Parts: sequence; C-alpha cells; structure tokens
Amino acid sequence: MHEMALMGDILHLIEEDAKKRNIKKVEEVDLIVGELSNALPDALEMAFDVYKSQGIDFLDKNAKLTIIHEKAKAICVICELEYMPEQRIAVCPACNFPSGKLIAGETFKVKSYKGN
Ligand SMILES: [Zn+2]
Repeated sequence: MHEMALMGDILHLIEEDAKKRNIKKVEEVDLIVGELSNALPDALEMAFDVYKSQGIDFLDKNAKLTIIHEKAKAICVICELEYMPEQRIAVCPACNFPSGKLIAGETFKVKSYKGN
C-alpha cells in the first residue's frame, strides 16, 4: 500500500511547516486528491489513522483528515473542447485524437491544515 508512504511524506511536510509556525498539535488536515493521482482516498484515510494511532507528537489524537476529490479534466489541444478523461491519455470526444492535455485530476497536495 503506497498510500502509507504518501501519507508519511505529507505528515512530514506538515510537521516541518508546523514547527516553523509554532503549531504544536495539528487537528485538521485538508488534502486534495485528484482522480488520476494514483492515490486511493480510502487507503489514505486508513494510513492517516495508522499514523495517528502510533501517537505522533505533533498530531492531535483526534485529528481529522478531509479529502477533497478533484475531478479529472482535459482540454483538447486541437479543438479546445474541455472534457472529463477516464485516464491520463484520453481521446477527445470531438476529434477522436489523443489530443487531450490534462488540466486537473493529478493533484496530490495539502490544501491546508489547522492546529494550535
Ligand atoms: Zn478535440
């Protein structure tokens, strides 16, 4: 389950940032996860709970993870149609060429977090 490693990285980034901002306990984490980001939201939530149960210092024991789903979106470089691709390389429904350029759906990042 590579979500364990992904979540580990995310928590590490938050920890570093929280230190700088003098935040001792993080209580809320908002994460944006794109449809095509290769990370499964359910597995991320599980990973978050595992880390939480390990009693990480900077993470409040009731910390909450919110996952914001980002829909995949592509724009055709030929006809400029915007559409929802089902995979990274998607065929434009108007031109029938694999001419779509992804403009959303690959995001995997912390939107914000809260603590004190
Ligand atoms: Zn097109």
